[in-house]
Amino acid sequence: MSARVATTCPYCGVGCGVLAGVDALGTVSVAGDPSHGSNHGRLCVKGAALAETVDLQGRLLHPKLRGPDGAFFRTGWDDALDRVADGFRRVIEQHGPDAVAFYVSGQLLTEDYYVVNKLAKGYLGTANIDTNSRLCMSSAVAGHKRAFGEDLVPGCYEDIDRAELIVLVGSNTAWCHPVVFQRIAAAKEAGARVVVIDPRFTATCESADLHLPVKPGTDVWLFNGLLSFLFQHGVMDASFVDAHTLGLAQALAAAENDAPEPAVVAKACGVQLSDLLAFYRLFARCEKTVTLFSQGVNQSSSGTDKVNSLINCHLLTGRIGKPGAGPFSITGQPNAMGGREVGGLANMLAAHMELHDPVHRDIVQSFWASPRMASQPGLKAVALFDAVLEGEVKALWIMGTNPVVSLPDADRVKRALNACEFVVCSDIIERTDTNVHAHVLLPALGWGEKDGTVTSSERRISRQRPFLPAPGEARADWRIVCDVAKRLGFVEGFEFETPQQIFVEHARLTSFRNHEACDDGLPAAPRVLNLGSMSALTPQGYANLAPVQWPVNEHGEGTQRVLSDGRFAHPDGRARFVATKARAPVHAPDAEFPLVLNTGRVRDHWHTMTRTGKSPRLAGHISEPYIDMHPHDALRSGVREGELARVQSRWGAMVARVRHGGDVLAGHVFVPIHWNDQFASDARVGGVVNPVVDPVSGEPEFKHTPVRIEPF
Ligand code: SF4
Repeated sequence: MSARVATTCPYCGVGCGVLAGVDALGTVSVAGDPSHGSNHGRLCVKGAALAETVDLQGRLLHPKLRGPDGAFFRTGWDDALDRVADGFRRVIEQHGPDAVAFYVSGQLLTEDYYVVNKLAKGYLGTANIDTNSRLCMSSAVAGHKRAFGEDLVPGCYEDIDRAELIVLVGSNTAWCHPVVFQRIAAAKEAGARVVVIDPRFTATCESADLHLPVKPGTDVWLFNGLLSFLFQHGVMDASFVDAHTLGLAQALAAAENDAPEPAVVAKACGVQLSDLLAFYRLFARCEKTVTLFSQGVNQSSSGTDKVNSLINCHLLTGRIGKPGAGPFSITGQPNAMGGREVGGLANMLAAHMELHDPVHRDIVQSFWASPRMASQPGLKAVALFDAVLEGEVKALWIMGTNPVVSLPDADRVKRALNACEFVVCSDIIERTDTNVHAHVLLPALGWGEKDGTVTSSERRISRQRPFLPAPGEARADWRIVCDVAKRLGFVEGFEFETPQQIFVEHARLTSFRNHEACDDGLPAAPRVLNLGSMSALTPQGYANLAPVQWPVNEHGEGTQRVLSDGRFAHPDGRARFVATKARAPVHAPDAEFPLVLNTGRVRDHWHTMTRTGKSPRLAGHISEPYIDMHPHDALRSGVREGELARVQSRWGAMVARVRHGGDVLAGHVFVPIHWNDQFASDARVGGVVNPVVDPVSGEPEFKHTPVRIEPF
């Protein structure tokens, strides 16, 4: 066995440290890294099965072009890269920079994310670069920015260990973030109370002290009601509110309008008044409260307001940035956070700067010395693919993601790709539902081969290190982007030879003109995202980098909690209460589509199963797509448990097997997101989901689509 390499799990945003190695026979082994602060040696079943997922079966190993007959044929890197550069150059010359777009992934490493955003925004001059992270946490980003002035997760996992009360909102943590759930279970053992707010009775609820099965989309009622309750009962930190916040009166007025008394809230949310009051009293009583939230909050047409309504309750009580207390967004993907740090979303710039702010644009452009800069925010994921279908975007480069499966109204995405003049896909897998629409396929390095950094939900930057050789002709995503940039004439700015050089440039940008005034003329609060001494990381320092939580000071020391001093990132240093108005999901069920579809993950699969689908033990947990529904609804729909049925919405249909898991309320069905047409026909639930998005964040409403269930 060669020495084990310290790396990071490529699945969820918990960001567990992994020790991985390969022996002389090529057998890969993995174990949890006891020295990693995110997991202290623990791994969940997905992490523990990583060794079963790194074989080369199905891998894209060589650049390929689609021929006139539709079949792919092998070509060399120079030819493939020339084609990509020529395709993008031709479209930009004829139609301008906004006729090209990039759709990237929370699977990319921070270094990959940085260079592709630099190319798009600073060199091509378009902000049409969005990421599949839009689908999981962009509402949290928008909520953080509104409340704190910057996209900041105040706390850390250790807060879970110290909490008296842990509130889980829209999060099946037991299945989706299992190592965090292990911490929650340990905290509960030590006496913490656990409340789960979720329409479904998930595995997470089994050990909860209280489960509130709220109607989907009613979280703003719930937290507006809590804000009113706390205020009316004098549960607030008045000195914190006076010294460090603005907007309480407006937020309270909005809350009291929606939720004048708990009975109104209980009715709106569809929960027992006694349970609601039990939650409100627990929250009022427990100074050390952590509110963890995830996709059930974010994936909603009111996702950003949901985030702010729960943050409002923490601001009122001053429970933020303190040991054992704070709102806590747990991200879905391994590097959703790292992508956000380098401007991975279409409305952001690197180092947490804003595309709409001319001062920020000037800071970034002058740092890059780039020839141009995108002048306005670009298209967010759903709108981006609409623009492709409508012919406004004519060249699209998709990296490390599978939008024909994962986006809402996914058949429309398929039509968009069919209609697109020029589609490039960089991927580790050759045949996916998306890649079959490509004109150029570029083989990328996968986990175990890649070299760079990721950031976990608690702002912890960890290294992904290679322990396997690059297979075939696969290359790092950052290198592929740089090679295309150079072919487009941008040699300066993309002469990176190593990921360390990219990381150092990213780190330098975080402290460059960090205190500068914003366009509103107010003195700026320094941006919290500052990597300090990491801007001087040597190749050896980068190679040996230990996991560290940003911001990082000039001595290389990280920061466990931010906002602890009550100084926020708005120009005046104060946090904002946000007045939130409760509203129902956009599409209500009706006689034709009487049931509400909710979507989510299962315990042992990841995204579209390109990796976890290879592991027999992971596939053994749940082996096929299913429709979880209430027996009464099954009876009314004319379907039976164990039989195949069709889920039909106004947008599309899919087929899966009916089961009565006991998780869903009458009137609701649940279908997992993972299966796709490579594993089973008509199995893409994305084709069924409505394309409604949150008006602030652009995050889709994956949790609420009216459907009917039909016999198959
Ligand atoms: Fe990987 Fe998440 Fe499991 Fe940790 S909890 S081992 S990061 S999938």
